[in-house]
Amino acid sequence: MSTHRYLIALGSNQRHPMFGRPRDVLQVAIDRMSSAVGAVLAQSPIITSAPIGPSQRRYANGAVVISTNREPEDLLESLQELEQVLGRERRGQRWRARTLDLDIVLWCGGILSQEHLQIPHPAFREREFVLGPAMAVAAGWRDPVTGLTIKQLHSRLTKPKPTPR
Ligand code: ATP
Ligand code: MG
Ligand code: MG
Repeated sequence: MSTHRYLIALGSNQRHPMFGRPRDVLQVAIDRMSSAVGAVLAQSPIITSAPIGPSQRRYANGAVVISTNREPEDLLESLQELEQVLGRERRGQRWRARTLDLDIVLWCGGILSQEHLQIPHPAFREREFVLGPAMAVAAGWRDPVTGLTIKQLHSRLTKPKPTPR
């Protein structure tokens, strides 16, 4: 049985009736992950971003590196169970308000492309709310697709581009 490492991104933009604010929901999720899924090797600070657009909801985001013997598909299943236990209703719609979103961003095994699971996560390179927290726990981890580290992807996304003369 082999051990795998994963970088997981966490997000929440809805209070949970029992666990409270989005950032508290994320902390509960991290605690449960360490008991139900595998060792949490590193945990980023949880960031809160101001609401954008009409929803007026604050987002909390974070990232963790975990070590587990689960294969990617099994891990996805466990993460989805956790999303459900912590109150996320799945109605087949992406990006709606949710108490918890757990996405697999990177895996030590590299690239996986299946109908229901793509690793690296297809959108993570364009998301500051993923790369920011990921910097705190996995700055040197290299994206197998672009060959760039999290740190490099983060600077590429956040540094202003030089204006052509
Ligand atoms: P986004 O994927 O753009 O962040 P989302 O997280 O809101 O959107 P979900 O509703 O959580 O989307 O998930 C939709 C489906 O995405 C899941 O049922 C799962 O099968 C699939 N999926 C594909 N790749 C991944 C991955 N790397 N991590 C988590 N889910 C994934
Ligand atoms: Mg997501
Ligand atoms: Mg998701």
